Amino acid sequence: MNKEAENTKEKTIFGKEKNPSSIVPVKLTLDSKLKFRCHPGVRCFTACCGGIKIVLTPYDILQLTRRLGIPAYEFLHKYTQPTYLEKTDMPGVMIKLREEDNKCPFVTPEGCTVYTDRPSACRYYPVGMADFHEGGTRDADGNENTSQEEKFFFTVKEDHCKGFEEDKEWTVREWRADQGVDVRDEMNKEWLRLVMRRKSFGIQATLSEQAKRMFFMASTDIATFRKFVFESSFLDTYELDEETIQKIKDDDVELMLFSFKYLAATLFGAQAIKIKEEKIKAKVAEMKARQDETVLQSIKEYEELKAETERKKAETGVEKK
Ligand code: SF4
Ligand code: SF4
Repeated sequence: MNKEAENTKEKTIFGKEKNPSSIVPVKLTLDSKLKFRCHPGVRCFTACCGGIKIVLTPYDILQLTRRLGIPAYEFLHKYTQPTYLEKTDMPGVMIKLREEDNKCPFVTPEGCTVYTDRPSACRYYPVGMADFHEGGTRDADGNENTSQEEKFFFTVKEDHCKGFEEDKEWTVREWRADQGVDVRDEMNKEWLRLVMRRKSFGIQATLSEQAKRMFFMASTDIATFRKFVFESSFLDTYELDEETIQKIKDDDVELMLFSFKYLAATLFGAQAIKIKEEKIKAKVAEMKARQDETVLQSIKEYEELKAETERKKAETGVEKK
């Protein structure tokens, strides 16, 4: 059994709990009350940091690499392993648990060593948000119709988690603010939307290997994506204003948000980034030339066939069928 299969639990980032039996079947709003507290004094402290699947979002990777002061490729190699996102063919990464105890590499008996930069999934636990419809409707441009989204919250109550026995009471809104999940929601939103949109196409549709590679690179390694933008023909191909170019040049977060738009454009044909007019014209001219070539070729073949038929007719005196 591989490590991923061993990790039966998953802290969700996709608004859908992987262990449905632990979901409390009550829809919560931002004003709903919740009794919960997690602190070093609880009997189960760090129990939820082992035997678990924690999928990382691009923003998680950005924050963790900054925190650890290492480049993305080193972080990916040391602390992650590949996975597929939400049973799609989109490649992503999850935290690689320690061989010796099957726990997160960042946990110690004293708690999380990257706490202020911990991944989104760790922040959402144990209050999930159902936000993204798998079969969401789309407008004429193929963009998901967000107005149809129904948002609600739910709690995940697992036997080992004693935080629910604590006295502290919050509203869901207060809990989310305390955990810093609003910022994460904002940062992860468009990326999660890409995955859910992909999922809504079903398993019959497959991404090309090139598209998968691009999705993985843009989602996990912003430095390489920056090279791709600034050291290839990218800027000659796409219409980007000076302000955007400056923003994505200097700011990793802006570049990350831009990469989601680029992925939406290349994977789903969304109109957020446009190809330059002259590039489209050149492509159309190329296609037309190719088409013209095909027509010329057919005419040539027809003329050859006609000449051949005439020749045979002259030889035998009859038209060959
Ligand atoms: S990142 Fe921190 S909070 Fe999340 S599982 Fe690891 S140790 Fe626990
Ligand atoms: S199991 Fe619950 S209470 Fe215990 S450490 Fe994890 S979140 Fe906190």
